Amino acid sequence: MDKYVESIYNGIVEKDPLQKEFHQATYEVLATIEPAIIKFPKYKENAILERIVEPERIVQFRVPWKDKEGKIQVNRGYRVQYNSAIGPYKGGFRFHPTVNLGVMKFLGFEQTFKNSLTSLPMGGAKGGSDFDPKGKTDDEVESFCTSFILEMYKHIGQFLDVPAGDIGVGAREIGYMYGTYRKITDIHGTCVLTGKAPVYGGSLARTEATGFGAVYFSEEMLKTKNHAIKGKTALISGSGNVAQFAAKKLIQLGAKVLTMSDSDGYIYDPAGIDDEKHAYILQLKNVKRGRIKEYAEKYSGVTYEAKKTPWGVKADLAFPCATQNELLGKDAKTLVDNGVIAVTEGANMPCDLEAIKTLQEAGVLFSPGKASNAGGVATSGLEMVQNSQRYFWSFDEVDEKLHGIMVNIHKAAYETAKIFGKPGNYVMGANIAGFLKVADAMIAQGTYA
Ligand code: NDP
Repeated sequence: MDKYVESIYNGIVEKDPLQKEFHQATYEVLATIEPAIIKFPKYKENAILERIVEPERIVQFRVPWKDKEGKIQVNRGYRVQYNSAIGPYKGGFRFHPTVNLGVMKFLGFEQTFKNSLTSLPMGGAKGGSDFDPKGKTDDEVESFCTSFILEMYKHIGQFLDVPAGDIGVGAREIGYMYGTYRKITDIHGTCVLTGKAPVYGGSLARTEATGFGAVYFSEEMLKTKNHAIKGKTALISGSGNVAQFAAKKLIQLGAKVLTMSDSDGYIYDPAGIDDEKHAYILQLKNVKRGRIKEYAEKYSGVTYEAKKTPWGVKADLAFPCATQNELLGKDAKTLVDNGVIAVTEGANMPCDLEAIKTLQEAGVLFSPGKASNAGGVATSGLEMVQNSQRYFWSFDEVDEKLHGIMVNIHKAAYETAKIFGKPGNYVMGANIAGFLKVADAMIAQGTYA
């Protein structure tokens, strides 16, 4: 690493030694944007790196709520408002026991570059809580969401910060939070949260957007090597929002989806997940809120592996769509040995640094989440546009716009990597393309902005 860039990274580690996910995310970005820092001295002269790694504002608060026995429980809430140089803060809420400040900072940092790549005017943020909605009753989730937004509402707004969903935050949670926000503020119809249900202002195709977008991105990568999705076998991890709709689009485009998972294990269906089985997964996960294991109990010929990830199954394509660091160096080696052609990140930072290196060195097409999962936030941006217009677009109109955005993100990442001498390196291409816009906006707005 260049001495100056390295000093920025060392400063991050020294300041917050325990935030290992944050170190990982900043390392990946700093190591790959280095050629742009060297080529354009203005970024060093304006201390852009020193500023861009530091969140503009962090809010942390307690969230007291009542469980089903009537006992008061307390969780911790966060909002990391990372960078608003190119637009109001935007990024999801995550409710998961692993949430801490380091995880929020890594996600907010990544979000800044991702939102820039969408070409929409959105800054980066992330928020959430260590609350675990899994196994909770609807009343408990409502109590938590109400309490969370009673504090959070002071820090968000359509021109300030527009949160959305993420792990553990879907249509149910967004509904409870939006309802509370509306009651407190008496404001309706403005865009303070995205991922709303279409009946009260949500965008059609927002639910599908991240998964669909990841497959659109993968399709573009495959085209560069004269491959197509049709006829390929695919591994998916996760069975939540992103995984569900990556699976749906892959099935639509003629791929055979072999696996899905949750935090307890994965199912392997050699016959492939078809439309009927896919509808069952949606019912199982979104309505019954059951475990993926039940899929193997329902369909014959399916195996279930507890406490394992699906990366040992032979396939052409892999879509890690669950969580950070779920695909490690050794998994990447297995995928390579099994002849994988492309690995498309649906989740945020699912591949660790060693996995990325292994895949890239083996010539596997690899896309970082900030490029390939940007379809979710892009469609949230389109939800904001529709809310501002007091209008809505059809599913096909939104899907077409989403597709166009993903094609453009691919092009930006691909072309930028080529310009900086690393053709095919989507990590470098996406990081530099995302960085340049934010950095130039920061310079234009002066030292204090
Ligand atoms: P969901 O909560 O809908 O689903 C998450 C899935 O991942 C579930 O199957 C869950 O299993 C599994 N999972 C969560 N934690 C772990 C873990 N530690 N180990 C193994 N499996 C785990 O979340 P989303 O689908 O919305 O998000 C998935 C990923 O995509 C995240 O990284 C998120 O940041 C990213 N993302 C999401 C976007 C969106 O629009 N939703 C947009 C861009 C990125 P279980 O049920 O057992 O917990």
